[in-house]
Amino acid sequence: MTATRVLVLNSGSSSVKYQLLDMRNGSRLAVGLVERIGEQSSRLVHGERVRTEPIADHEAALKAVSEELAQDGLGLDSHELAAVGHRVVHGGIRFTEPTVIDDDVLAEIERLVPVAPLHNPANIMGIRVARAMRPDLPQVAVFDTAFHTTMPEHAARYAIDVETADAHRVRRYGFHGTSHAYVSRRAAALLGRDPREVNVIVLHLGNGASASAVAGGRCVDTSMGLTPLEGLVMGTRSGDLDPAVIFHLTRVAGMSVDEIDTLLNKRSGLLGLCGDNDMREIIRRTEAGDAAARLAFEIYVHRLRKYIGAYTAVLGRVDAVVFTAGVGENAAPVREAAVAGLTEALGLSVDPELNAVRSSSPRLISPDGARVAVAVVPTDEELEIATQTYALVGKK
Ligand code: AMP
Repeated sequence: MTATRVLVLNSGSSSVKYQLLDMRNGSRLAVGLVERIGEQSSRLVHGERVRTEPIADHEAALKAVSEELAQDGLGLDSHELAAVGHRVVHGGIRFTEPTVIDDDVLAEIERLVPVAPLHNPANIMGIRVARAMRPDLPQVAVFDTAFHTTMPEHAARYAIDVETADAHRVRRYGFHGTSHAYVSRRAAALLGRDPREVNVIVLHLGNGASASAVAGGRCVDTSMGLTPLEGLVMGTRSGDLDPAVIFHLTRVAGMSVDEIDTLLNKRSGLLGLCGDNDMREIIRRTEAGDAAARLAFEIYVHRLRKYIGAYTAVLGRVDAVVFTAGVGENAAPVREAAVAGLTEALGLSVDPELNAVRSSSPRLISPDGARVAVAVVPTDEELEIATQTYALVGKK
C-alpha cells in the first residue's frame, strides 16, 4: 500500500497546531491544537474532543496528539503516513524550497535562531520530538521565508552599510510565504490563467499582516523584513515606522531595548491605537461612532492603500489584487476602503453586492469588465505545507 497521508505540524513556543491530510484528495482526516503547553491549564482540542490536563512540554504534547490520533485509528505508527511537514518560520537565504530535514539542515535552522528568536526554537522542538517518534519517516521543513527568496537584491537589501548588514545577516526576508505562494497560485486559477502569466498583489491580513508583489508566480517584493514587524499595521505590531523612534524612546523615555521590542510587537498596531486588535470589534465600534476605533481603522487602511500603490509601481501591470486571512477574507469594509477611489488611477473597484457575500470559496468581488480583478481567496497554509511536503517525498 502506498503511504498517502501527511501530518502537518505548526509548533509555537506554547502551542502545537496539527492536521493530518490525505493527499489523494487533500481531505482533512484530523485537525487539532495543543495550547498553553507548560502551564497547569494546558488543553488539547482534537476535532470535537477536548482534553484538559497539564502538558509539560512539546514531547508530552506530541505524545497526547498521537494518542488522540490512535483513538481515531489514525496512529502515527501507521504505514500510511508518508511524511511529517513542519512549518519553519525562518529559512534565511539558504532554504529556497521545502527541504528534507537531516542533522545538517537542523543545525542550519538552529543557526538562524538569532534572526528568529521567537519562532525557530519552537519549530526546532517540534522537529526533534517528531523525529524521535518516527526516525524512519521523512520530516520536511517548509519555510515561511522560502517564497520570498526570489526577491531581487534591490528589494531585499536595506540601504545600510553592506559589511555590517552581511556580518549580521540583516536583510529583508519576508514571512507568510506559504500563504502568499498558495493564494497567488489559487488567484491565477480563479482568473483561468497560468500563474506564470499573471501579476498579483496578495494582501494577507490576519493578526499578522503582509503584502506581496508576485510577478509570474515569483515574489518580487514583500512588506515584512528582517522580522515580521515591518510593513502593514497589524493586530498588535506597528508595521513601518522611522527607526529613530527607537533611539528617541531610549533617550527621552529611558526605555530599554526589550521594552521597546515589546511595545512595537505586542502593544502597538490596532491594539495600541484603540485597545482592540480584533477587526470585528473595531468595525463594530466604528459603526457605533467610536472615534479611536475609527482612527485605528483609517490608519490601517491608509497603510494598506500605500502598499497597493507601491506594488502597482513595482509590478508595472497588475492583473489581480487578492485579499486573504482572517481580516482579508471576512472584513468587507476593509476591502471596500482599501480600493475606494482608485478606479481611475489603478483600475481598482469592488462591486458592493459581491463584496458583501460571505463564502469560504475563492471569488471575484470586482465588477464585470474591471481593468484589474479584485478577489478574495481563503488561505490554506496547512494544505500548502502538506502539498509541498508530499511533492518532495514523492520525488524520492
Ligand atoms: P488570522 O490571523 O488569519 O487567523 O486572522 C485573525 C483575525 O481575523 C482576527 O484578529 C480578526 O481581527 C479577524 N477576523 C476574523 N473574522 C473576522 C470578521 N468576520 N470580520 C472582521 N475581522 C475578522
